[in-house]
Amino acid sequence: MTILNRRTFIQLTGAGTAAGIIGAPMVARAAGPKVVVIGGGPGGATAAKYLRRLDPSIEVTLIEPNKEYFTCFMSNEVLAGDRTMDGIKVTYDGLKKHGITVVHDLVTGVDAAGKKVTTKGGQTFAYDRCIMAPGIDFNFEALPGFSAEAAETMPHAWKAGPQTALLRKQLEAMPDGGVFVMVAPPNPFRCPPGPYERASLVAHYFKQHKPKSKIIILDPKDSFSKQKLFEQAWTKLYGFGTDKSMIEWVPGAKGGKPGRIDVAGMAVETDFDTIKGAVVNVIPPQKAGKIAFDAGIVEGSWATVNKGTFESLKAPGIHVLGDASDAATMPKSGYSANSQAKVCAAAVAALLKGKEPPAPAYVNTCYSIAGKDHCFSVAGVYTYDKEKNAIAEVAGSGGLSRLDASDEDRKREVSYAHSWYRNVVADSWS
Ligand code: FAD
Repeated sequence: MTILNRRTFIQLTGAGTAAGIIGAPMVARAAGPKVVVIGGGPGGATAAKYLRRLDPSIEVTLIEPNKEYFTCFMSNEVLAGDRTMDGIKVTYDGLKKHGITVVHDLVTGVDAAGKKVTTKGGQTFAYDRCIMAPGIDFNFEALPGFSAEAAETMPHAWKAGPQTALLRKQLEAMPDGGVFVMVAPPNPFRCPPGPYERASLVAHYFKQHKPKSKIIILDPKDSFSKQKLFEQAWTKLYGFGTDKSMIEWVPGAKGGKPGRIDVAGMAVETDFDTIKGAVVNVIPPQKAGKIAFDAGIVEGSWATVNKGTFESLKAPGIHVLGDASDAATMPKSGYSANSQAKVCAAAVAALLKGKEPPAPAYVNTCYSIAGKDHCFSVAGVYTYDKEKNAIAEVAGSGGLSRLDASDEDRKREVSYAHSWYRNVVADSWS
C-alpha cells in the first residue's frame, strides 16, 4: 500500500512550487460537476453563490458581460435625486470569494445537446447543467417609431445603468412647468408597481424643485399593481383627484394606449390625442432576454420551465429563472429572482447527485416608495403544485399594506425598504 504523504504528493504532481501547492485545490475542484450560470443579476448571482454553498465540489462559472451591475431596485430613488448611481452599484468581487469563476463576456450560443456555451469573446464552456438568468429584452417593434436608438432620446431606464443616469439628467435639465410623459408597458413586465413608483418619486422631486411641472402616465392597462395605495399616496402628497394634480394617469380605456412614438417631436400619439413632453420615458413591452430565444427555449415571450426546478420544458439540463422565465404567479421582481435562484440551486445540486430535488418554497416582498416618509409593500409566500406545474400563493401568507395604515407605519416602511435593499444585495452578490 502506498501512503501518499505531502512529499510524494508534490513529487507526483511535480508541484514543487508555491504555485503548484496553491493549485492543488483546483485539481480537486476540476473533478466536480460543472455548472455554467448565464447572467449576473440577482437571479444568476444568487444561484451561483447558493450552488457553491450547497455543494463546494460543484465548479461554478458565472458569465456576465458587465463588471458592474446597477440594480433596478432603488433606481427610482436615483431619478428623484435621493440616491446616487453608486448607491445602486454592485460588483462581482463578493462572488469570487465563494470560489465562483466570474467571466466577463457575453454568451452568444447555447448548445443544449452538446452541453456547452460559447461567448462573443470566443470562449467555450462545457457544463453538466446550465442556469440561465438573462433578464428581459424589449419588444421595440410593438411600438411604432420607437427603437433602441430612440431610447437614447426617450430613455426607458428599465435596465438600470446609463439609461437611469440619462433620465435623471433629463429631469434635472427640464424647466419648471415642463411635462414628464411616461408610457407604461402592458402585462406581464418587470416590476409591476415600478412605473407607478417612478411617477411618484418623480413627483416627489418636482414638488421640491419644479412645482409647476406635471406627470402624464399613458397606460395601455386599465388597472395596475397596488393601485389603491398609489392613488391614496398621490392624493395625500401630489393633489391627485383635483385639477391641481401633479400626476395624471390615463388608462387604456380612456386613450392611454400608446400608438406611434414621435421621437423627433418628443410626442406620443394615442387614438385620441398627441401628447408632447419635455421629458418622455417610454417603457416598451417586454420579453425574455435574447439568449433564451437563441437557445430555442422560449414559448411566446418567456422561457417555459418546470416551476419546481426551473428546468426548461424544451431543453433538459438548462434551467431558466428570474424575469426571463414564466414563473407566474410570482411577479417579475428582484426578490422573486433571488428566491427562485435558491430553489433552482437546491434542485440542481440534488439532480447532479442523482437525487430527487427538495420540495420548493418561494417568497417575494416588494416595497414601493411613493414620496417623503411614505412607503407600502406587498408580500407573499408561495408553494409548488406539481400536478399543475403551478406556483401558488399560500393563502393568508402575506398581502398588501393596509389602506388605513398610520403615517408612522408608512414612514417605518421606508426604513424597511432600505433595509430590504441592503439585505437582498448582500444575499445575492456577497
Ligand atoms: P437582470 O437583473 O436583468 O439580470 C440579467 C443579467 O444577465 C444582466 O446583468 C445581463 O447583463 C446579463 N445577461 C443578459 N444576457 C446575457 C448573455 N447573453 N450572456 C451573459 N450575460 C447576460 N424588484 C424588486 O424585487 N424590488 C424592487 O423594489 C424593484 N424595483 C424595481 C424598480 C424598477 C424601476 C425596475 C425597472 C425594476 C425593479 N425591480 C424590483 C425588478 C428587478 O430589477 C428585476 O425583476 C430583476 O432585476 C430580475 O433579475 P434577473 O436576474 O432575472 O435579471
